Amino acid sequence: MQYLHKFTDGSTYHFPLGKVVCVGRNYAEHAKELNNPVPSTPILFIKPATSVVPLTDPLVIPEGQGACHFETELAILIGASLRHATHEQVRDAIAGVGLAFDLTLRDLQSTLKEKSLPWEIAKSFDGACPLSAFVKAAELNLENPLHFSMKVDGKLQQQGSTDDMITPIIPLIAYMSQHFTLQAGDVVLTGTPAGVGPLASGMTLAVELTGLYSAETNVR
Ligand code: ZN
Repeated sequence: MQYLHKFTDGSTYHFPLGKVVCVGRNYAEHAKELNNPVPSTPILFIKPATSVVPLTDPLVIPEGQGACHFETELAILIGASLRHATHEQVRDAIAGVGLAFDLTLRDLQSTLKEKSLPWEIAKSFDGACPLSAFVKAAELNLENPLHFSMKVDGKLQQQGSTDDMITPIIPLIAYMSQHFTLQAGDVVLTGTPAGVGPLASGMTLAVELTGLYSAETNVR
């Protein structure tokens, strides 16, 4: 089944979702909280289209797999094909900005990392990418910093700003396009700020793209 993106004005995007290209450790404070070194080049991984679900649907914790962490991330909707793209081509190709959870089976990921094995199964399972609606790029000035936050049961848990990214959005997407062709309908996740933690049944998570969009979801 194809996942079709929604815009915050209620319209649907005509390009279906292909893949979600993600970056690990794009905020120094988050790298530190997991005792990871700050990387010199972006660490990329992909979540398949089958991992994406609407963020406002109840979140489901996979059973018997240990802790499932939320990571709140700025999500960028790609609106044109990008391969070895220039910064200008990237700027022109951004169709919208939203929020996502990069759900991570942290215990499983830690075990796999210890063994130097790839950690796809900890990041790319069905439902691993709850995704919000997108604010249309035309309604934004991408030259200005974007701020976002996430509250758990009303208490501030994570906050991030494009100012704090190790690799900012435009150069990050340009870098990604040197490795993977990005296509209209693909989504880029830009990394999580500090404050990640485990989902628990009954929790309410409220995300806000400051001044632009907010949404709420619950953990089943
Ligand atoms: Zn992440």
